[in-house]
Amino acid sequence: MSRRTLNLDDRLYQYVLDTSLREHSALAELRAATSEHPDANMQISPEQGQLLALLVKLIGARRTIEVGVFTGYSALAVALALPPDGHVLACDVSDEYTRIGRPFWLRAGVADKIDLVLEPAVHTLDARLAAGEAGRYDFAFIDADKSNYDAYYERCLRLVRAGGLIAIDNTLWSGRVAEPVVDATKDADTAALQALNVKLRDDSRVDLSLLPIGDGLTLARKR
Ligand code: CA
Repeated sequence: MSRRTLNLDDRLYQYVLDTSLREHSALAELRAATSEHPDANMQISPEQGQLLALLVKLIGARRTIEVGVFTGYSALAVALALPPDGHVLACDVSDEYTRIGRPFWLRAGVADKIDLVLEPAVHTLDARLAAGEAGRYDFAFIDADKSNYDAYYERCLRLVRAGGLIAIDNTLWSGRVAEPVVDATKDADTAALQALNVKLRDDSRVDLSLLPIGDGLTLARKR
């Protein structure tokens, strides 16, 4: 009965999962395989993956971008939601991380939909822009090094068509973004997220919603 977003305690969060999560077996297996990794908290939550898949279907996406693949859970969730001729341009720098996910992409039958490019994502995105692909993508998911988020956002905004969607993860950053403005020399990640959140609020190029799901997921629809 509240006008505010609920705080989810453990029991209510489990209820959300129990009553709404529809996780493909390959996604569940990849999540289990990643849970033993020391950086497992870099993986999106399963309900976030389901939301990304729903958004991809809602906007009829065919060509998508992912900046920051980690072990490939979100790329797999998106690829499963794409039509047979759909593609994910998956940008990451880590062979070690992405190697964990690739067998699950194969098992789910979507490996040929995911074009993994292992180099700094700014290079990859700039190359696509130089190749004349501005406006040729429908959806982008940004979940990588926070200090480069603005660089990724600006490039994705050019690559996505009008009416296309950019989803940006970790925009609530465990709550640290709400603390006093951070000294960028001491905490570059928090400072970068604070600056981007304010920039997005005032960015007339997009329609906007910051969802308190997972660690904060901002949706920006290109006007
Ligand atoms: Ca993340």
